[in-house]
Amino acid sequence: MKAYLFNGPDEMIFKEVRDPRIISSTDAIIKVSHSAICGMDIKIRKGFLPEVCPGTILGHEFSGTVMETGSSVRKFKSGDAVAVSPITSCGYCENCRNGKNEKCINGGWLLGYSIDGCQAEYVRVPFADRSLTSIPSGVSLKDAVLAGDIGASGYQAALNAKIKEGDSVVVTGSGPAATMAMMCARTFRPSILIAVDSVPERLEKIHSYGIADAAVDMLNADPVNEVMRLLGGKKADSVIEATGLNSNFKKALELSKDDGSISVLSIYSDPLIFSATEIKNRWLTLNTRRIGANAVSKVLELMGDRTIDTAFLFSGTGTLDGLEEGYMMTARKDAGFFKWICDHEGR
Ligand SMILES: [Zn+2]
Ligand SMILES: [Zn+2]
Repeated sequence: MKAYLFNGPDEMIFKEVRDPRIISSTDAIIKVSHSAICGMDIKIRKGFLPEVCPGTILGHEFSGTVMETGSSVRKFKSGDAVAVSPITSCGYCENCRNGKNEKCINGGWLLGYSIDGCQAEYVRVPFADRSLTSIPSGVSLKDAVLAGDIGASGYQAALNAKIKEGDSVVVTGSGPAATMAMMCARTFRPSILIAVDSVPERLEKIHSYGIADAAVDMLNADPVNEVMRLLGGKKADSVIEATGLNSNFKKALELSKDDGSISVLSIYSDPLIFSATEIKNRWLTLNTRRIGANAVSKVLELMGDRTIDTAFLFSGTGTLDGLEEGYMMTARKDAGFFKWICDHEGR
């Protein structure tokens, strides 16, 4: 099959490799239909995750069709259309048995990291019964491409924000995962949803598509003053921090009311520095769960009834042999760019 491989820092190759095969009875082989490029793929490509071995096929955001299953896979069969969670879980370790699937000691993030990922024609997915989710009718394979990763983490971030009907919600960030978190937060019926970031082109799109009720450009206005103006002098009931920047984490604390909930969606490259005393004195709650067990199926359900539609996040598309362009576009972070989608069956 054709695949796109990491060959060491700043070096990717597109070449013919051996098709994946079932190794464990819990595996499934998936024919990839659509995939997306993640910020983590860019980090691996740049060599920032030195534990990723040269020769690894990258990619963990995808949808596809089941081709073959191992002898103990019960829930899926050849021909099933599936969304895939990048976080695999075995189902039998202590953490899995206690519902902490994303802390699985046998699984976790493997695809496109410690084993071959989806930027190829086919991919082997471990623990298929728990890693795959059937795509409901009315949702296409293309629609479902973002469900497993940013969809599920966006939904979990909205859950973590503990939003009650009528609450005010602020999301710091305007990237793909932040936008997904906003769409999911909306399903909890907040009275107002405000996006705060410093990328005006993205903020403008988010606002014009009605994803957020208001957008605050931090480069043009003090976000705390502006949010308080929009909320009639109050601070937000819930804040979702989705930029991964230390400075914005501090801003998220400032934007939250006392006893508010702060949902931490991002992964931070630098150590996060904040005052534990402030958290305690202000009764703030930080919630950090990454992707809960049912998040992928919930997102697919919301896609099925058109509560969320991710089409506007598809900023560029291409085929597998054109992934290099996708990587360039994603790394360049052009104004208003969200996601590169690869159509693996396209010509
Ligand atoms: Zn990802
Ligand atoms: Zn486990």
